[in-house]
Amino acid sequence: MDATERFVDALVNAGSVVKPNGQDRWLAQCLAHDDGNPSLSVARGRGQVLMYCFAGCLIEDIAGAVGWSMDSLFDDPKGVTYEYKAQGRTVRRVHRSPSKVFRQDVIEKGSGDLYVPDGVDLDGAVKAGFPVFIPEGEKDVDALTRLGEVMATTSAGGAQAWRKADWSSLAGASELIVVADPDEPGMERATALVHHLRTITPGVVRAVKAKVGKDAADHVTAGLPVADMLPVDVDYDPEFEAAVQSEMDYRRIKSEALHRERAAEAAKVSEKLQPKTLGEVLDLQFEEHWVIPGLLERGDRLVLTGVEGGGKSYFLRQISIMAAAGIDPFSLAPIDPVKVLVVDAENSERQWSRSAKYVTGLAEKWGVRSPRNEVVINAGVRIDLSVPADVNQVHQLIDEFQPDILQIGPLYKLVAKEISNDSDAAPLIMTLDSFRERGLVLLMEAHAGHAGKQSKDLRPRGSSALLGWPEFGFGLLPDEENPEMVELARWRGDREQRNWPTGFRRGWDGELPWVPLRGSSDEFEGGVK
Ligand SMILES: [Zn+2]
Repeated sequence: MDATERFVDALVNAGSVVKPNGQDRWLAQCLAHDDGNPSLSVARGRGQVLMYCFAGCLIEDIAGAVGWSMDSLFDDPKGVTYEYKAQGRTVRRVHRSPSKVFRQDVIEKGSGDLYVPDGVDLDGAVKAGFPVFIPEGEKDVDALTRLGEVMATTSAGGAQAWRKADWSSLAGASELIVVADPDEPGMERATALVHHLRTITPGVVRAVKAKVGKDAADHVTAGLPVADMLPVDVDYDPEFEAAVQSEMDYRRIKSEALHRERAAEAAKVSEKLQPKTLGEVLDLQFEEHWVIPGLLERGDRLVLTGVEGGGKSYFLRQISIMAAAGIDPFSLAPIDPVKVLVVDAENSERQWSRSAKYVTGLAEKWGVRSPRNEVVINAGVRIDLSVPADVNQVHQLIDEFQPDILQIGPLYKLVAKEISNDSDAAPLIMTLDSFRERGLVLLMEAHAGHAGKQSKDLRPRGSSALLGWPEFGFGLLPDEENPEMVELARWRGDREQRNWPTGFRRGWDGELPWVPLRGSSDEFEGGVK
């Protein structure tokens, strides 16, 4: 006697009116509620009693009404085991306990992902074009195949696990019917599984749900034909549709805004071109473009590199202070005196006071005017040219003093962040160019990347963008044998032919700090005149 027969006997013994209702089925008075008309459907499931009360009584209560516990409803009180097979071998076992605890043993991986009860030929059914039902659990598959008399299969592990299974054995099926449990995970599974199965078969793939009860097992236990299952629309998801609509609205609005922006841009007329007649161009009076004739003209950028302590600051001071006194810093020829603005982020006022005295004395002696009021110095203050306020202040000083030369640097101290690539250098270069556009000469110091006693690499460190940028890229390269002599070495070709000395000698007392050498002879021109 199996559990089903024992349970039917128990019902009869407890006073229920029980009638056979076809093979393996009974219709009984439910003892868990006051049941005038028999409304309890009982069926023999595989290894367990199946029942459904149309009044909605819980299985526990129906069993309890005859004094039974849940495990009594199973042929084996431990529960039911579902075997998954591949080529006749059991590759996976799913055990279901009476309290609905599932345990899965995977014996062989990689095949037999679908549960097919013994005696059911799924592959044959697919080939023959029969519809295949795909409920959520093995119990449903058993109920559908035994009581519903249809083909059915499922994958192990509940609503989420179908994604892990290989469904390809259903490829080419004529009709696949996913049975959705009427809860949220069940509906999500059905929707996603239908869409997946549509990618593996050209046949009809649709979803249904039980008309009574909570799953396919309840539906067929209740004695209803599978044709009575209710259709589920998996192609309409109001939330998804709303999300799509909102995304489309967003894109449309964005595209319209972009279109308007472009139209506005397209309608703009710039005022960059200011044509003049040939006659006007010929009659133009140009301001003298030289700041130091033959050496530096307005807009020139000069970057001087060299080793630390190699005399870069002395070199630039000599140019600025001599020019401010109205003399060429190397030939000592008279020139129109210039005004100089210094932003020195490295040397302090004390250092300036000490080291500019000597060259200022010479400039006062040889020049056409004293440079004392023509050079304006900001010394020893770190500024950050990536900060607008600091940039604005430099522009304000340019407005105020109208300098011809802006001596600024060293480059790597003009921004707070280290300059280690072209992107770091780009904003600094743009800012310095904004100063240069005011008609200035930019005199700048930079540290050489790898210069040392052994190296002649005088290129500025940090960024290759700095290499091509200035009109003049010079490095002070000491003569290995005679440290008093330095070569004015190019790390980039001069953009124009100018009258720069080829090298310098450190001046003796009474001479310029840097005495120019020209050509290969050591003849110098900067001595006392
Ligand atoms: Zn009932």
